[in-house]
Amino acid sequence: RWLAPAIRGEQIASIAITEPDAGSDVAGITTTARRFGDEYVVNGRKTFITNGARCHWALVVTKSERERGHAGYNLLVIEKGTPGFEVSRTLKKLGMHSSDTAELVFEDCHVPATNLIGEEGDGFKNLMWELQGERMITAAGAIAGATRVFEYTMEYAKNRQAFGQAIASFQVIKHKLVDMGTKIASAQAFVYQTAKQWDQGEYPVREISQAKLVATQVACEVADDAIQILGGHGYMREFPVERAWRDARLARIGAGTDEIMKEIIAKSYGL
Ligand SMILES: Cc1cc2nc3c(=O)[nH]c(=O)nc-3n(C[C@H](O)[C@H](O)[C@H](O)COP(=O)(O)OP(=O)(O)OC[C@H]3O[C@@H](n4cnc5c(N)ncnc54)[C@H](O)[C@@H]3O)c2cc1C
Repeated sequence: RWLAPAIRGEQIASIAITEPDAGSDVAGITTTARRFGDEYVVNGRKTFITNGARCHWALVVTKSERERGHAGYNLLVIEKGTPGFEVSRTLKKLGMHSSDTAELVFEDCHVPATNLIGEEGDGFKNLMWELQGERMITAAGAIAGATRVFEYTMEYAKNRQAFGQAIASFQVIKHKLVDMGTKIASAQAFVYQTAKQWDQGEYPVREISQAKLVATQVACEVADDAIQILGGHGYMREFPVERAWRDARLARIGAGTDEIMKEIIAKSYGL
């Protein structure tokens, strides 16, 4: 009903976890979904929701009660046009301009119980599982973006002349390019290795967190180095690297910040 049209590109989905007072601290969300017979009544606010304005439906993370903790979580599909579901505003942001980012409000929003995804009360566990996949995709996307920036920058450096020679022939630029390529290659190998574990049915939470952490940091470093190598051109909208620099930055925040990745990794080491 929802997934197939989304995969076919006929419907746009969004996932609504974050709230004005609870981002990293998912256990602190206060959006409630109280069950009355064959429906839930949802109340709460969500923010920073990608495609929140243009989506056809949102997968909304709710709790049966407002108390902290991992119990009583339910994931509900709430379709646009459902009375009580409003987009209160779209937000202006640094990068990622091809998607909108919105605030959503739910006020006595009646949702059929058949819109529940997974078993009742299993929402937290299911959400954490979903986030592993999202982090893998974020890591892979970061490497893909960094590779594109690296290739572009390499080409630019070979062609740009200064002091009568290509800037790529200056050792400092050459070494910067080597560092960029080396960082990408090592992060990519780790992302691939982790994706293979995931494909083989493992649940490698530590490695997924490490892959997201390292790949997104590499993407930011590569984009920053690219601007430096392009000089003034790198800072201009006419050249693609300033966009890469703005877009790459999100991946160190979305789907779990660098710091949250480190907390998860630390826990996996028993720290
Ligand atoms: C463009 C964009 C798109 C987004 N899309 C979505 C979306 O589609 N759906 C959705 O649900 N959310 C989305 N988000 C929200 C995103 O997931 C959150 O911004 C992110 O999880 C961080 O939450 P926060 O912004 O509330 O920061 P906070 O949780 O307030 O954190 C602030 C700072 O404190 C640090 N911090 C917090 N807790 C700890 C801790 N325990 N230890 C150490 N440091 C800590 C954080 O790492 C961060 O540096 C999006 C955000 C952006 C910017």
